[in-house]
Amino acid sequence: MQAIVNGKIVTPSGVVENQILLFQQTVVGIESTLPEGCEVIDAAGGYVAPGLIDVHTHGYLGADASDGEISGLKIMAEGMAKNGVTGFYPTTMTLGYDRLDRAFDSVRAYRANPSPEGAAVLGVNAEGPYLSPDKRGAHDPKYLRLPEADFFLKNKDVVRITTIAPDLPGAMETIRTLTENGVRVSAGHTTADYDTTLRALDAGATQATHTFNAMPALNHRKPGATGAFLTDSRVYCELIADGFHVHPVFFGMLRQLKGEKLILITDCTRAGGMGDGDYDLGGQMMHVEGIHCLLPDGTIAGSILRLNLAVKNMIQLGGASVAEAVNMASLNPARAFGIDDRKGSLEPGKDADIAIFDADFNALRTIIGGKTAYCR
Ligand SMILES: [Zn+2]
Repeated sequence: MQAIVNGKIVTPSGVVENQILLFQQTVVGIESTLPEGCEVIDAAGGYVAPGLIDVHTHGYLGADASDGEISGLKIMAEGMAKNGVTGFYPTTMTLGYDRLDRAFDSVRAYRANPSPEGAAVLGVNAEGPYLSPDKRGAHDPKYLRLPEADFFLKNKDVVRITTIAPDLPGAMETIRTLTENGVRVSAGHTTADYDTTLRALDAGATQATHTFNAMPALNHRKPGATGAFLTDSRVYCELIADGFHVHPVFFGMLRQLKGEKLILITDCTRAGGMGDGDYDLGGQMMHVEGIHCLLPDGTIAGSILRLNLAVKNMIQLGGASVAEAVNMASLNPARAFGIDDRKGSLEPGKDADIAIFDADFNALRTIIGGKTAYCR
């Protein structure tokens, strides 16, 4: 048995001090005294949190899930583990079916032989190709298609969620078929009006892809997709909390409106962790300067955000408590993807996926399934 001492333990309802987290492959419990014979880990006064889960991340450290390279998934998994991430959903861009097939195959192959130092690949998030041309963002228009269920049904062993624009012909039927067969649907990259968006939710869509981004701005006479996502309690809302994609003044509003249904994501690209420069994004050139990732025409293109920084931003700029902000990057995404029976919080019986953070939310140690994957 292992024990983490001298830390502030982040539970779903708050932070507890002067307690000890006990775990093996799974969490054993939170106790006030140290049992004999434990292997002791000193948290050095930091936060002992559930490992973070990134449900929307395209790439990191030069690698991109769309490349279809097993070596790239390893780079992403090991790099993200250094940020306290213990699980993620590699996210593909809008591409031809042949290239998506290759990306899905690389995920299948990587999962058969994953890196012990890497965050777990929990499944694929396929962003597109069923996106609205008018709100395609940085997705290449030549690969956009009209919705159909067959392609993702064929790949439902790895694809856990896909983004569909409700305004497209065939969207409702596709959403219904996919969600009835275990493939979740996130609504987004859309010009859908309020009523159409509600119909997509009735059809089974459960999530909103990077809320506020790639959808018409909120208008008090035309609530649109944004208005539906903010006000319908069924919807898990993704948020890119880098302070650029959405003005931080709205972080607190989203927190109050969505609560346990707010999910912090990175939407990170291969430029994450790499510095300024020019990078490929799904076949298009992307220029990165500071926290800004832009296509040549000025379109915002993903981010270089780290999920641990998103948590810190939500605390500092969104008024969230530490537990609330951590939940938004662990328990809330685990619930959204139906894996909260084994992931997302430090509760007995769940996988021992644990991140120890310093006061600035830099990861000091990352533990996956009870084994230390990263130690600073
Ligand atoms: Zn997007």
